Amino acid sequence: MATLDGERIIVTGASRGLGQSMAERFSEEGARVVLTARDEERLDAVADGLPGESLVAPANVRHADAVDRVVERTVEEFGGIDTLVNNAGVSLLGMQDDRKELTDVTEDEWDTVLEVNLKGVFLFTRATLPHMYEQASGNVVNVSSGLGRHAIGGAGAYVSSKWGLEGLTRVTALEAENRGVTANAIDPGGRVDTDIWAHLPDEEREQILDPDVMDDAAVLLAAQGPDGVTGESKTAEEWEQRLE
Ligand code: NAP
Repeated sequence: MATLDGERIIVTGASRGLGQSMAERFSEEGARVVLTARDEERLDAVADGLPGESLVAPANVRHADAVDRVVERTVEEFGGIDTLVNNAGVSLLGMQDDRKELTDVTEDEWDTVLEVNLKGVFLFTRATLPHMYEQASGNVVNVSSGLGRHAIGGAGAYVSSKWGLEGLTRVTALEAENRGVTANAIDPGGRVDTDIWAHLPDEEREQILDPDVMDDAAVLLAAQGPDGVTGESKTAEEWEQRLE
């Protein structure tokens, strides 16, 4: 039996990068995967390459109605949700070549980063938890960053969103305690060669981590039961050591 046989897993930001890689790995481990992001064409292409059952449910994580619909469709199709992976994220670093000091960040840029990286996680978590509480089991896995633990100048919106996400993860864990649901954060432990870094020169991209860096740890987190570890934030490598 594969590690995640029959598990129902929602992956946000599944159209590319780390999300696509985790979704593929979950499917290889026997899970039924719900792929969500904005780009339906890319989601369909990812779904076509999966060995197992999946559901393509496009949504913008900034919009509550769209998020609620993804969760409703998941419950309609698969009867429940076992793991939610809040992975969708954007960075101003990826929107332009240079870092931007706070004095240069526009309101629109700030809103975009905070709404995708933090509000989107709140919306998906809010919609999913009632179903997990009802079945007294489930895992919420939030994709954070080293910049959720320390700060650099020129990435104020991203740093603020990921520090917020760290706090949201702990609140989720506290509220879900004794209801069979775990909530944890994971980060790749460094820069990963995804579209976020598309502006870097090829030589530099070759030196950073591959998008499958979190797959093993994500499987371990999704395989956790109601008594699993909760309220912690670690790199993929640290999670592997903690859970294996
Ligand atoms: P990526 O390749 O750029 O993928 C980002 C994903 O988020 C895409 O699937 C994108 O899909 C989705 N997304 C963006 N805006 C969205 C929105 N408004 N609504 C729904 N989905 C949206 O980035 P990645 O590197 O894989 O990043 C994944 C996560 O890892 C992020 O949370 C990021 O902060 C974190 N992370 C990345 C690195 C790194 O070095 N790459 C390091 C640490 C942490 P659509 O465009 O189709 O909507």
